[in-house]
Amino acid sequence: PTQPYDPDNIFARILRGEIPCNKVYEDEWSLAFHDISPQAPVHILVVPKGEWVSWDDFSAKASAEEIAGFVRAVGHVAREHGLVEPGYRMLANIGAHGGQEVPHLHVHLFGGGPLGRMIA
Ligand code: 5GP
Repeated sequence: PTQPYDPDNIFARILRGEIPCNKVYEDEWSLAFHDISPQAPVHILVVPKGEWVSWDDFSAKASAEEIAGFVRAVGHVAREHGLVEPGYRMLANIGAHGGQEVPHLHVHLFGGGPLGRMIA
């Protein structure tokens, strides 16, 4: 069983507009904004608007439309930020062992220069 969704998590508050963000993209299914503590020259977070904590729930329970919308948003943001040709990294921290800090599913996009290896 995965943890219940906490509607007061920071990304929920950003999605509700209660906390500002440096938005780069928004559509029906997703919101993307710059990470507040960038770990690369480009560091963007792409967040599905649905109340998903984990990839497990999202992949198993979200509608095909929602999943496709999110996947396309990630690709769109990467393209719009010129990451496609030079290359970039996508990453999702999932759960305790994954080091997930914000309990609302999100994908990190890193780019804008050569990236060090992050895989141990
Ligand atoms: P993760 O849950 O993937 O381990 O990390 C959450 C990410 O969200 C971190 O990279 C952190 O810098 C970012 N973050 C946390 N709080 C905020 C916030 O209020 N605004 C923005 N833009 N990013 C945040």
